[in-house]
Amino acid sequence: MIYFDNAATTKMSDAALDALYSVSKLQYGNPSSSYSHGRNAKGVLEEARAIIATCIGASPEEVFFTSCGTESDNWAIHQAYEAGINRIVTSNIEHHAVLEPTSTHSRLGMRAFYLNVNAQCIIQPAELVSKLDGQKTLVSIMFQNNETGAKQDIKELARITHSDCVDSVFHTDAVQAVGHTHIDVKELDVDMLSASAHKFNGPKGVGFLYAKENKLTSPLIRGGGQEKGLRSGTENVAGIYSMAIALKENCDQLKENTMRISRLEQLLLGEMKKAGIQYHINADSSNRAIGILNIAFDGIDGEGLLNMLDMHDICISIGSACTSDSKERSHVLKAMGLDDSRIDSSVRISMGRYNTENDVAQLVQRIKAYYDVVRVAN
Ligand code: PLP
Repeated sequence: MIYFDNAATTKMSDAALDALYSVSKLQYGNPSSSYSHGRNAKGVLEEARAIIATCIGASPEEVFFTSCGTESDNWAIHQAYEAGINRIVTSNIEHHAVLEPTSTHSRLGMRAFYLNVNAQCIIQPAELVSKLDGQKTLVSIMFQNNETGAKQDIKELARITHSDCVDSVFHTDAVQAVGHTHIDVKELDVDMLSASAHKFNGPKGVGFLYAKENKLTSPLIRGGGQEKGLRSGTENVAGIYSMAIALKENCDQLKENTMRISRLEQLLLGEMKKAGIQYHINADSSNRAIGILNIAFDGIDGEGLLNMLDMHDICISIGSACTSDSKERSHVLKAMGLDDSRIDSSVRISMGRYNTENDVAQLVQRIKAYYDVVRVAN
């Protein structure tokens, strides 16, 4: 199997798997129990919190564990609502984990405003200025788009938000960015940030929400009072520790991983060109993250290409993992102004640290064979 769908999820690293296994086997106490087996599990949790905090430039008290990126995004929006913020500015290209709670909260009375993107999938900061009016607002803008890899200028957008109103809150869905790019929450001056372990070689079903000191006051999930009463439910100790190990490893190897993936990306593009395959990269700009390529192939149906590659055990996707079951065209590519035929000929190839040159060679060979057959038939 050749895996080029790393924006959907990633293979767990050996270190993360070992951590998951050993904590599950040995440290299975309930962190809320007062005997030493429970206290040891609590120690594991706190070690994980400290590791994660160091990786993103936060203090441990500012890291809250969740069950996934979706929960973290939902929580950030719910928190703003509970804090009496009645305006939200987000964008047309957010993940549904932000768009859905935004529409739920707008039915509850929050006024929602949506920023547009240009053809490169980039938000113009001036448009944010035009949507702010000096009142408390939650601004939620994703760090890096899951379909195109487009990276927004989070530092500038957070600056604009805070200079309009000191009580406004800036949240970023950084699910695609954490573990893949340098992040320092203090440098960026974001109030909240969402992340998910399975996007950075950790396990599924575990994530975190960073919230600047004192910014998180309302739970989304209520019950036994874990996480300082803010997120109830017995903690997934092994998953959380495994997430911390995965994140630390990715952060420690950030430079090598980025260089390696960048080389593979260049190899793929160069080999496709050499093979005479006509393609266009959607949202290509200097702000595109390394490793996520949304590509339109002239005269090719993206779904047909995906199915053919699947027959050869090569995984790519059309749109995001969450929308690939749906027959709807990608809301992100539509927001960029791409026409239906360009969208239908587009696929997402997302690379990760475990891809090799041989993977790229096989991918190009299969795309070329399909491309030639379809082009002759047309
Ligand atoms: N936000 C973005 C940008 C994503 O890509 C995803 C997952 O695809 C999510 C949120 C949801 O994360 P999770 O799968 O952990 O719920």
